Amino acid sequence: MFPKEVARAAGTGASVPVKACQVCGHDRLETVLSLGYMPPVNQMVPIGEVECQQPWFPTSLLHCPKCELVQLGLVVDPVIIFPPEYPYTTGMTRVLRDNFAELYAESSKMLSLGKADLVVDIGSNDGTLISNFQKGGHRILGIEPTDVANIANQRGIDTFQRYFSTAVAREVVQKHGPAKVVTAANCFAHIEDVHAIVDGIRAMLAPDGVFISESHYLIGLLDTLQYDTVYHEHLRYYSVGSLAHLLSMHGLEVFHARKIPTHGGSIRIYAARKGTRTIQPSVKEMIDAEPHGEAMRKRLASFRHDVMLSKLRLYSMIADIKEKGGRICGISAPSRASTLINYVGLDSSIIDYVCEIEGSLKIGKCMPGTLIPVVEESRMFEDQPDCAIIFSWHITSELAPKLRTKGYRGKLIAPLPTPQFI
Ligand SMILES: [Zn+2]
Repeated sequence: MFPKEVARAAGTGASVPVKACQVCGHDRLETVLSLGYMPPVNQMVPIGEVECQQPWFPTSLLHCPKCELVQLGLVVDPVIIFPPEYPYTTGMTRVLRDNFAELYAESSKMLSLGKADLVVDIGSNDGTLISNFQKGGHRILGIEPTDVANIANQRGIDTFQRYFSTAVAREVVQKHGPAKVVTAANCFAHIEDVHAIVDGIRAMLAPDGVFISESHYLIGLLDTLQYDTVYHEHLRYYSVGSLAHLLSMHGLEVFHARKIPTHGGSIRIYAARKGTRTIQPSVKEMIDAEPHGEAMRKRLASFRHDVMLSKLRLYSMIADIKEKGGRICGISAPSRASTLINYVGLDSSIIDYVCEIEGSLKIGKCMPGTLIPVVEESRMFEDQPDCAIIFSWHITSELAPKLRTKGYRGKLIAPLPTPQFI
C-alpha cells in the first residue's frame, strides 16, 4: 500500500525524478504537461550582478491513474527551493490575511477551542496564520524553515526554525505537549516524503486533535488554467479525493471540506483520527463532483491543450503591443510569475520591469531566469508604460482598481485564464 521507495532530494543538493507515485507507489505515471526546464522561483539574482551559472530543472506534471494524485515529475532539494533567504512573506497579501482570520473564526467555533489548547502551524512563514490563534488567547507554535522565522519571532510569535520532520514533531510534543490543532496552509503539498509528514502530524495531534490543511485545489487549477502554479515548491496537486485517500492511509479521516478563495482556488479540509468526528456531507459532495478515472484523463488532456493555446494567445497580444513600439511592465512578482514568464518566453527586452509594493523583499532583484528587474511600484505611475501585465491575475479584481486610483492610465492585461485586456 505504501510506496517502496519515495523520491527524496533533501541533502542531495540536487534533484531526484519521481518514478513512482509519492502516495501509492504506482509506477505507471502518465505525463499531463511539460513546461520545459525552469529556474527555481526564488532564484532571484540582484540587479546588476554579473551573470553566472544557475540551475534549471525539468518541470512536468504527472498523473497517477491509481490514486488520482497529480504530482510534479521532479523533487528538488528543499535547500535549493526554500533557501534561508526565501523572500516570501504571507502578511503582504490581503487575501491571505483575510483567509487566515476566517480560518480562525471557523475552526475555533467548530472545534470549541479552549485557552489551554495548543495550535501548531507547519510552514508558519511570518506567523500570519497562527497570530490569529494567538490573539484568540490559545497556546501557539510555528514551525518554519526559512529566515522568515526571525520576522515571526520578532513579532512575538513563537517560531521554531526547522524543516518539519517526524523528529521535529516528537520534539514539539516533548516540549509543548500534544496539539489540539495542527494547521498546514500551502505547505502540505510542498514537503517531500509526504507519508513521513502525515506521520509527524499525527504524532503531534492529541487523541481528539484536528488537522486543518489548505492546499491549492487541483480541480480549480484545471478549471482556471493555472499552469503558472506549477513550480518546484509544489510537489503535489490535491483533489479532496486524493487528499482523503492519503490521510486515510494514516488512520486519519476527512470530516469537512470546502473551497476557499486563496491562490486562485484552494481547498480547506479538516481531518481527525478515524471515528472521532461526525463526517459532514461536504466531504462526499466534493469528492462526487471531482472527475475520476477516464473522466480525469480527458480533463487533463483538455487542460494540456488549453495551456498551449493560452501561451500562444498571450504571446500574440504582447507581439501586437511591441510591433507598435509599446512599453510593457509587469504587476507583482509572485512565485507563479516565474513559471508564466519562463514558459511564455518573456524577457527584459519585452518586459521593462515588474512592480512590487514598497517593502517587498523582491525589489532590487531580477525575475527568475531573466534580467527583468523588480522595482518599487511608484515607478509605473511616473513612467506610464503602455501596458501592464498582472502576474497576480488571480487577484485582478483587488489590484486593478487600486492601480487606477493610484493613477495608472495604460492598458491592463490579465494573462490567465484567457489572456485579455481588462
Ligand atoms: Zn498514486
